[in-house]
Amino acid sequence: MGKLTNIKPRLSSTPPRLKSPPKIVEEFYSSPEWRALVKRIKAKRGNFCQRCGSSDRVIADHIIERKDGGADLDENNIELLCHTHHQKKTAQARARRARGQA
Ligand SMILES: [Zn+2]
Repeated sequence: MGKLTNIKPRLSSTPPRLKSPPKIVEEFYSSPEWRALVKRIKAKRGNFCQRCGSSDRVIADHIIERKDGGADLDENNIELLCHTHHQKKTAQARARRARGQA
């Protein structure tokens, strides 16, 4: 009794990490400040798309995007969008930027 079998440590060889470097944007969207703000906005406005009222994967989106100089943490610059509207908006913004009319 009492003899534990030898458990091999699982750290024999750490595989090299070849992931792409983290994006600054994603760091922002995982910051506690941003999360707290989104929570507050959803609590206040309801967890619905402000354009169609859908509750499908509602996310908070910057009306004026951060890379266009929009305020990061100003709730007046944030709109709640469903998945569909967010995709539309993102596509439009990208097209606009591609045309150089940002
Ligand atoms: Zn919508």
